[in-house]
Amino acid sequence: MNGGRKGTLLATIDRTLTAPGARLFADRLSRPECARETIEARYDAVSFFLQESDLRSDVRACLKATPDLERARTRIRLERGGPRDLRSIAVAIREGASLASMLAALQTGLPQLLADAVSALDPARHEDLAQLAYDLESALAEDLPTLARDGGFIADGWDTALDESRSLRRDSRKIIAELQARYCDETGISALKIKFNNVLGYFIDVPARHGDALLKPPHAETFIHRQTLASNMRFSTPELSDLAGRISRAEEAAQTREIELFRELCLRIEGVNDAVSTAAHALAEIDVAAAAADWADANDAVRPVLADEPVFEAEALRHPVVEAALKATGEGFTANNLSLDASGALAPRLALVTGPNMAGKSTYLRQACLAVILAQAGLFVPAKSIRLGIADRIFSRVGASDDLSRGRSTFMVEMVETAAILNQATERSFVILDEVGRGTSTYDGLAIAWSAVEHLHNTNKCRALFATHYHELTGLAEDLAYAANLSLRAKEWKDELVFLHDIASGPADRSYGVQVARLAGLPARAVRRAEQVLKKLEAKPDAVDALPLFASVAEEPEAFAPAEDHPALKLLDAVSPDDLTPREALDLLYRLKSER
Ligand code: ATP
Repeated sequence: MNGGRKGTLLATIDRTLTAPGARLFADRLSRPECARETIEARYDAVSFFLQESDLRSDVRACLKATPDLERARTRIRLERGGPRDLRSIAVAIREGASLASMLAALQTGLPQLLADAVSALDPARHEDLAQLAYDLESALAEDLPTLARDGGFIADGWDTALDESRSLRRDSRKIIAELQARYCDETGISALKIKFNNVLGYFIDVPARHGDALLKPPHAETFIHRQTLASNMRFSTPELSDLAGRISRAEEAAQTREIELFRELCLRIEGVNDAVSTAAHALAEIDVAAAAADWADANDAVRPVLADEPVFEAEALRHPVVEAALKATGEGFTANNLSLDASGALAPRLALVTGPNMAGKSTYLRQACLAVILAQAGLFVPAKSIRLGIADRIFSRVGASDDLSRGRSTFMVEMVETAAILNQATERSFVILDEVGRGTSTYDGLAIAWSAVEHLHNTNKCRALFATHYHELTGLAEDLAYAANLSLRAKEWKDELVFLHDIASGPADRSYGVQVARLAGLPARAVRRAEQVLKKLEAKPDAVDALPLFASVAEEPEAFAPAEDHPALKLLDAVSPDDLTPREALDLLYRLKSER
């Protein structure tokens, strides 16, 4: 709800290994399909990887090493790419080719979706792609900078002009040292050095006492005086200037040439843009199918059977997120069945779900919705079996929230959402309503919930689950032809409430709200008072005209009267205050406090 990923269906079931795979997976979940062939094609791919589990491991190992081809391609196209994107493209195409050969090597026929992926990645069918990957790998050096302008990313031997510029730059030290040795030799000045600074560039430096010799013939013809310092004289020669010019031009040339080569490679990628894009999608497709199979395998999820009739028949259905959360704490999840049929032929169209608080009503409703989403996203469903008529839309109204910034109170939001459902749900829709009418007075709320159930049943005629604490509504199941009651069971055991979390037909007897309030840690005094009020209300419902907002209990609260057998009372009965030492009295006080 807050846009985070933690605790979501996506985070629970996403086992993709590549970024494009993860994007495609998220996209599938957020936009389930209605086209049967598309969904079946996805099931085929998942089934294939479910059966071929060894191949699946190999494929997934290969995917792990595959960079994000789509991202690299887009960055290069937008001129925001660098040498590392070139490497990503090359590696991804190469890994794609190995994936294609792994899949193609299999004797059994590939499902259509994977066969298409193989043909998008097969180097034999896309020589241009294979050549591009080969050239990119040959062109690129081992260590790559992030930005092209940093240079040094083209391998030696790839381009003659670049190699020449680089060798001049690399060899410049040697050439300068050779020149220095020759000048020492010619002038007989062993202290002569060739140096470099930012003001003069390259220059010849001799101690001042040798300077005069260079200012006179025959050396004066070669050595041009540049500077006299206290102890040194500096000269240049046409040959040194020429060499210095060549060195600095070589550096520039190497840089310019590298940028040119980078652009050329980018242009080549642009030239096969469509093929690269298709290959990127194929990689994502393989990743999603293998990931879905991996999750299905580990979670006993099954392939849904798609039906023409508007049914939902699930056997031992589970809620993937709640189950994963319970598993993490070592608890088990209770699977439940659900059968709905909008036509009313095989099962009720609408089920009223009642049960104590915390019994699992919301979980039951939501797991049905998630099953539809998973199934229509082309994924397997955590159940023993599921048969589903494709839903055109899923509508859900759950929880309480307000939208105060847009001028809507909690109740208004609830009603706006309910209105949308009643106005839009069709016979092929799947609807869950988790409590309606709780944000207003009891009778208004009950009346609205009542009419919403009738409307869904008689007018929308869609598959619907309606969870409620209004036990009055359960009578509707008898009046409406295609409605039924379901309830989640709980048992009272030694004053404790035990949730069984399993669904049964028929309505629940009560809500056990006060017991749940005690579990939640409401102060003991408030719980006892609630029990008293509840007893009164149950005996004489007319005592209060509307609950909960305008509730006012007619009588003043009764004085607190603990039960006769309360341990604190027993303790008090057992002591005689006159016989207690101060120390014993203090101890008693502590014990009484602990019995509270
Ligand atoms: P309320 O009426 O108070 O809204 P609820 O009946 O809707 O309660 P849920 O919120 O669905 O109850 O479930 C409460 C908790 O019970 C869940 O958080 C989960 O831990 C546990 N639970 C629900 N269903 C199951 C199940 N089928 N198996 C095991 N645990 C479950």
